[in-house]
Amino acid sequence: MRICDRLALLLLVLSTLAACSKSPETASVPQAATSVAPAAASTRPGAPSYAFQHLSDYAEVKLGADLSGLDADQKQMLVKLMGAGQVMDDIFWQQAYGDKQQLLSDIKDPATRTLVGYNYGPWDRLNDDHPFVAGIGKKPPGANFYPTDMSVDEFKKANLPDKDSLYTLLRRDPKGALITVPYHQAYQDQLAKASDLLNQASALSANPSFKKFLSLRAQSLLTDQYQQSDFAWLDVHDNPVDVIIGPIETYQDGLFGYKASYECFVLLKDQDWSVKLKRFAHFLPALQKDLPVPPKYKKETPGSDSDLGAYNAIYYAGDANAGAKTIADNLPNDEQVQLQKGTRRFQMENVIHAKFDKIMMPVAKELIAPDQVQHVTFDAFFQNTMFHEVAHGLGIKNTVKGKETVRKALKDYASSFEEGKADVLGLYLVEWLADKGELDKSKLMDNYVTFLAGIFRSVRFGASDAHGKANMVRFNFFSQMGAFSRDPATGKYRVDAGKMRAAVKALSAKLLTIQGDGDYAAAKKMTDAQGIIQPQLHVDLERLSNDDIPIDIVFDQGLATLGLTDSPPHAADAPSAATAGH
Ligand SMILES: [Zn+2]
Repeated sequence: MRICDRLALLLLVLSTLAACSKSPETASVPQAATSVAPAAASTRPGAPSYAFQHLSDYAEVKLGADLSGLDADQKQMLVKLMGAGQVMDDIFWQQAYGDKQQLLSDIKDPATRTLVGYNYGPWDRLNDDHPFVAGIGKKPPGANFYPTDMSVDEFKKANLPDKDSLYTLLRRDPKGALITVPYHQAYQDQLAKASDLLNQASALSANPSFKKFLSLRAQSLLTDQYQQSDFAWLDVHDNPVDVIIGPIETYQDGLFGYKASYECFVLLKDQDWSVKLKRFAHFLPALQKDLPVPPKYKKETPGSDSDLGAYNAIYYAGDANAGAKTIADNLPNDEQVQLQKGTRRFQMENVIHAKFDKIMMPVAKELIAPDQVQHVTFDAFFQNTMFHEVAHGLGIKNTVKGKETVRKALKDYASSFEEGKADVLGLYLVEWLADKGELDKSKLMDNYVTFLAGIFRSVRFGASDAHGKANMVRFNFFSQMGAFSRDPATGKYRVDAGKMRAAVKALSAKLLTIQGDGDYAAAKKMTDAQGIIQPQLHVDLERLSNDDIPIDIVFDQGLATLGLTDSPPHAADAPSAATAGH
């Protein structure tokens, strides 16, 4: 599942909508409309096309990487993985729209062709699926997973046991009756090709767990049985190369949320961050003891989140590459696998960096006091983000009174309080490590000001849901404690480091106490009282909409971008040749 965490949410400030759970947000965030040029503009003769006006919504980012640490086999493995990813991309086109070539053959306007490519179809994913090709109507909610003329009622009545499977398409037989077609049949030839490429990559891998995962995944593509390869993937820990591949997320199915879309991420692990995170994890038990609450709220032993990793992405394909770009992921989605073995969390460092540069910095320049903008740094941003993830392991999972979990006790406020806790305790963790000399204390101000810039993200969610309200609670709490203030003359915000520290402590105590008590009434009261967007802030955020800041990014990616070539002659058709010597 795409992680809808502070980082992803932050990007919402930057734009009218963004990153995390891509399709649901794209479809539901009402603010999306603020960036829309009048639809009529594209229909006036001689006026620039809708696509021409909207290409500037995207900043292009190169997915390059230093591959000097990889040997020849590993580089060839990347070529195979990206080849398999290209197949995922082709299948995703069919799932999201249908016949790509036919659609493109009818379009002459270069801008429109480009925008179709970004969106994997004729609907603008960054603008509530606005149709931008002449003659194209509204996007079917069921994309191409279901017949467009199928009603919800007809689906419900159909006596087809695997109709709600992640891995079947609904189609009509020659008589017009609904039938299911398993993915491995519907996309048979393409999946055979992708499977073959994964087997070739497996043969090139010298890492036993990665090798095993790739060969099991190659099988999964042919059978639609993914559990075994999911388990094997959780054993991959130390390989410099990683891949997420297959039909995974169901956001594209706007009708029922049943059907999984094919995608692929090819990733390089940031070993430095992995080592750092391991080191910091050792401090968690001591930090837990130092949390600013009475002992009964911190008697649990914190988890270390060892499967949290930083990665540099070199290739996005299919669902992953459509519309707003994913920056973090938590997989696999199979609950049985999660319960038995857990998940792996990914932060896409270079993609986050790109969004920071292209989108976040312009926002900070608009809203942060000029003498403090220098404290908004990528390092602090990434640090805050990673420590947010680590901080999920701190605090309390079961209430102090009984055996009930906090999650159960706080019901619909549970996830927003957990995210709020991780946000503020992440910063508490940074302060604590700086006090111990583990982090550079002189850089604390960077963490604070960058955190403030991060808080603005919440505002886009406003009062729209419990999560957005909880974010506003944090904003208003910090504001009331004087952790930051607004200069009425300039409309810009500045941090007071001393008061910030006090506010971090006070809010940590408050959230941990409500969680530990499992106090639903207090959670609701706090949210109702503080979860409001103040008019002044609303006005300030309007300034962002008026600036010409890109909404999201697109990638310049592929073999040429990385300086890789598919090595002839055996690579394409003789996997056994590549296995020689392994
Ligand atoms: Zn989180």
